[in-house]
Amino acid sequence: MEIINNVKGTHDIFGEETNAYDYVESMMKSIAELYAFNGVRPPVLESDKVFSRGVGESSDIVRKEMYTFPDKGGRMLTLRPEFTAGIMRMVVQNKLYATNELPLKLYYCGPVFRYERPQLGRYRQFNQFGVESIGNNSPINDVEVIVLAYTILCSLGLEGVKIKLNTLGDEKSRDNYRSALREYFARHIDNMCEDCKQRYELNPLRILDCKVKEDQEIVKGAPKINNYLSDESKAIFIQVKDALDVLEIPYEIDDGLVRGLDYYSETVFEFHYVSKAGVDYGAVGAGGHYGKLMKELGGPELPGVGFSFGIERIVSVLKDDGGLKDIKQELDAYVMPLSEEALLYAQEVAILLRNSGGYRVDVCFDKTKLANMFKRAANKNAKFAIIIGEDEINKDSVILKDLAKQEQKEVKVDDLINKLDEHFDKEEE
Ligand code: ATP
Ligand code: MG
Repeated sequence: MEIINNVKGTHDIFGEETNAYDYVESMMKSIAELYAFNGVRPPVLESDKVFSRGVGESSDIVRKEMYTFPDKGGRMLTLRPEFTAGIMRMVVQNKLYATNELPLKLYYCGPVFRYERPQLGRYRQFNQFGVESIGNNSPINDVEVIVLAYTILCSLGLEGVKIKLNTLGDEKSRDNYRSALREYFARHIDNMCEDCKQRYELNPLRILDCKVKEDQEIVKGAPKINNYLSDESKAIFIQVKDALDVLEIPYEIDDGLVRGLDYYSETVFEFHYVSKAGVDYGAVGAGGHYGKLMKELGGPELPGVGFSFGIERIVSVLKDDGGLKDIKQELDAYVMPLSEEALLYAQEVAILLRNSGGYRVDVCFDKTKLANMFKRAANKNAKFAIIIGEDEINKDSVILKDLAKQEQKEVKVDDLINKLDEHFDKEEE
């Protein structure tokens, strides 16, 4: 039979990599919880309208990268390419803004789908962790979200994360800026890529995000947003920068930063990190403030701010940096039945230790030499071996061997949990 491979741009996660994902995700969740964010789990499938809201949508993600298809009932559905719009749909539909204190602080974690060209750090199905803080317009709210993201990256051991910061201003600022960009790019657009030609028509701000080298040269000479900001937007950006200074969070201004989705306004940011070996997987996370998204989804005009991490990229840099060495799975005990007949007794002992003792225990199922069983115990990082032969079965006991000290003794099954508890309590002291 032919072997079936995974779909292009997807990847399997197994073995130690599973532990790496668990470790990264649980670190992110626990720090988000310290900051009083609560978990949400919106569906993967949404109506395509959640993402393609009205005409004039200019982002690559919505125009080109979405998995959109009719289901058997003829409904147009999209596999979410990001979480924010789906979460806002959920907040509006369930009126969460009315029944909770604001800002509503939510975090999420799960797969997203984008039809992109697969390459280093770029998949078609990948995982994101992120937060949204909804319903408060203070620049300090933006800052709380930036500090949370930065704290998570530092806690994972990434030293020297770069925060790139920019403002897109309010609608008036962006309208003025777009006019200035149209005027500037009018002279160049014939020599730019096909995508940029479309961006020029739809939203010239998007041109700043073009990844084509020759186009980037032209972008360098483009007008900068700061000359087109309204006084209000200027004041907001100053407050954000001042607060980050007070909190001693390092950042750099990048006035070319525009972000890949259309709903952003005012503060936007990205997190960059190059692994110690010098590999750049692209931004490990990004986010910003959005003023009108909830309104576009039929809700009241409440602003929000959020970020999203690319978990694949973070696991990759941690792997490169050797930052995952301490998360090996360990066994408390590996049970070794010396005969076929001892297997059920071994399983009984294991279940007792797991269910009543809370110990992580595995049983050797193979008929193999004792020496091989010890090798397996070492491979599994087991702390104890529990050896069971005919004698032990007859005496309701086991041989308990401390694998670090290489000491063993006979222990009654009834006393086994006590013995292990004593050992692990002492180890903790
Ligand atoms: P990029 O500029 O790299 O395409 P983006 O602006 O499209 O990123 P966001 O929509 O902000 O990315 O998504 C948040 C994070 O998700 C990114 O910072 C990145 O770490 C990760 N990410 C984005 N696209 C991919 C992908 N195709 N594969 C893996 N991770 C991705
Ligand atoms: Mg992208």
